[in-house]
Amino acid sequence: MFRAVQRPAPVVTEDSAAFWDAADEDRLVTQRCAACGRLRHPPRPMCPECGSLTVEVVELSGRGVVYSYALLHHPQHPAFEYPVLAALIDLAEGIRIVSNLVGLKRDEIRIGLPVQVEFVSTDGDHRVPVFRPVDVNGSVAP
Ligand code: ZN
Repeated sequence: MFRAVQRPAPVVTEDSAAFWDAADEDRLVTQRCAACGRLRHPPRPMCPECGSLTVEVVELSGRGVVYSYALLHHPQHPAFEYPVLAALIDLAEGIRIVSNLVGLKRDEIRIGLPVQVEFVSTDGDHRVPVFRPVDVNGSVAP
């Protein structure tokens, strides 16, 4: 849907730049410790497992399930429809990400709902990940 005001662009830090650069190309990535192999999100400089500062960036499947969610009513920004469906997604690779749900009504949200990433545009020609329900056959719901 066209909206006169676009979503705000993501706030990019030195640690999160690789995540947001990939999002601009519709790719979902995360950090992997180059020493012990642990995946982590959100991006940060040190491995919480082994303390290593060496990091790799790996691409994710974008599939997951809703772990938890919240309906956000305030504060309102003109770029969003309210309530905003904010969710904690358990990704297939075993890490968790905070995002928005799209393509469903608030009373259709369920814990454990299978979802797939897609990307929406923001101010400044950036892209951010959101998640849409998938049916049991794995295709994306209309
Ligand atoms: Zn590590």
